[in-house]
Amino acid sequence: MPERIAVNAWFPQPELTECSLCRETRSVLAPTTAALAGEVALDLMALGRVPALLGAALSRLARGLGSGRVAVLVPEAGGKWRVFASSDLDQTHDLMIDSDRYPELLEVRRTGVPFIARSVDSTPNLVLSRQMLAAAGVRAVAVFPIFLAAPSGEPVVLKVSLARELDPQDEAFATLVAHLLVHRLALLPTQEAAHQLGLSSAPAGGPNPAALLRLVPVPALVVDDDGRVIHANPRAAWMLRGREGRTSSGSVILRLEPERIWLGQDPRWEATLVSGSHPRLLGWSNRVGENRTLVLLDQHPEERRHSQDSRIRSALAQKLHELEAANTLLEEHARKRARFVSDVAHELKTPLAIQRSYLETLSGDLSEGLSQEQREFLAAALHGAERLHRLVEELLDLAALESGNLPLTLEPVSSEALADQVIADLEPLAERHGVTLRRDGDPNATIRADRERLAQVLRNLVENGIKYGRAGGEVTVLFERLADRALFTVRDNGIGIPSDALPSIFEEFVRAPGNTASDGVGLGLAIVRRSVMAMGGRVWVDSDTGRGSRFFVELPLWTGER
Ligand code: ADP
Repeated sequence: MPERIAVNAWFPQPELTECSLCRETRSVLAPTTAALAGEVALDLMALGRVPALLGAALSRLARGLGSGRVAVLVPEAGGKWRVFASSDLDQTHDLMIDSDRYPELLEVRRTGVPFIARSVDSTPNLVLSRQMLAAAGVRAVAVFPIFLAAPSGEPVVLKVSLARELDPQDEAFATLVAHLLVHRLALLPTQEAAHQLGLSSAPAGGPNPAALLRLVPVPALVVDDDGRVIHANPRAAWMLRGREGRTSSGSVILRLEPERIWLGQDPRWEATLVSGSHPRLLGWSNRVGENRTLVLLDQHPEERRHSQDSRIRSALAQKLHELEAANTLLEEHARKRARFVSDVAHELKTPLAIQRSYLETLSGDLSEGLSQEQREFLAAALHGAERLHRLVEELLDLAALESGNLPLTLEPVSSEALADQVIADLEPLAERHGVTLRRDGDPNATIRADRERLAQVLRNLVENGIKYGRAGGEVTVLFERLADRALFTVRDNGIGIPSDALPSIFEEFVRAPGNTASDGVGLGLAIVRRSVMAMGGRVWVDSDTGRGSRFFVELPLWTGER
């Protein structure tokens, strides 16, 4: 039975020649690349020696990717790497390179998991080496740990550098080849494999604490009785020495209080970081071996912030998604409602028109033989029918505006002519109510609007001014020209609108409390708002109960464009 290297999430169970990651990456490959991956697998199965195994994987990988450089690097002391094998013929084997210049290698050394930068331009970890990579013509890099060099737990890596961005196919292929290699290497006797890779210290038999510590999801250390670090996982090394720091086993990192450790009961047990800061202890255990204590530290604040940030981001994304779904549902309901209202109004329109015309005929020529009381009944019926007719017309208008089905012709409209027309139309009504209509403000200007719609808007507002005005009062249509906009104000000195009704006064069927004088239904202002919005303008109101109201309509001036 060969010895096995320790496993972590990236290093699959050696017994499985194909793991879920292999299956996933295989499913992304196009048929030709999948066939090539199949050949790599066969090659690797046939070979027993590490250099031959790596050589075969490298040449197949380089062929599959079509270009770029592929190499296997072995970690050395002092942060250096040794190039063990390379697909690049010009590359001198046994070349030594320095980790500091290759953050991607440092990252894999630190974490023991693959590092993939599909585009070096958009990978934050590569900011510092971007210039160097660009000068070497490298656009994408991927580094895969393929063998854990116990006892340091540092990985031998397979590195791919490409002169183009890595697409998902390339990434899947490179990942699959690296993973197949990991499976194959895991089946070889570890000491022998380490020896062939030129690693000075082959792993001893038995569990490998350094590799096992990598599995711990928080910073973890194994210290001796003097607080001297025997092993540290990358998280702990990062936390204690900074991101770029190196773990140097043997240095005293924690000052512990041995008797308390060994008694092991006191939760307020403290460790002091020799460098001065105080990591929070999550827990500890002295069962990892004689004179050995496993110490678990609280997550690095930066790391914790990062994971909190990403939790918040994903919760926000989820909420946004829910809001979008709710919004779509609301829009759908609004559309259905508008369709329903419009259908009902259409159905009512024809019978109502017939009823109205009969009632008009009756109350005209045919009313001569009727008694006074009968005439009054007839007048009331006609009044009701007219009210209903108006309601149906308003409902149809509103439904058309809501669904965007109302055709608008945006054209140059003269402010003066429009105000005059509206005032002339409503003069008889104003007279009946004892209200004076006036026009005021700047001389003529040309507005960009649908003439009929805007006339209806002003008519609604002036009519309301008359209806809710007082006998002897005034309604003024005031026009002002702003920089690139036109402002109409319809001002009355009537009953006004209570302040608590103001915010909802432009909504459908909303009427201010106590307005029994008029027989409206509360659709006029809703139509006004929708119409003004459809013409690219806005409308608002300002009112004092008992003193009158000012409705403002702002619209663009005509610039020659529709
Ligand atoms: P309607 O006049 O048919 O009721 P509107 O939508 O035109 O419907 O107006 C909604 C409500 O706003 C009115 O019922 C009234 O209470 C209030 N209102 C509108 N214009 C004025 C105004 N000029 N003065 C006082 N109240 C007004």
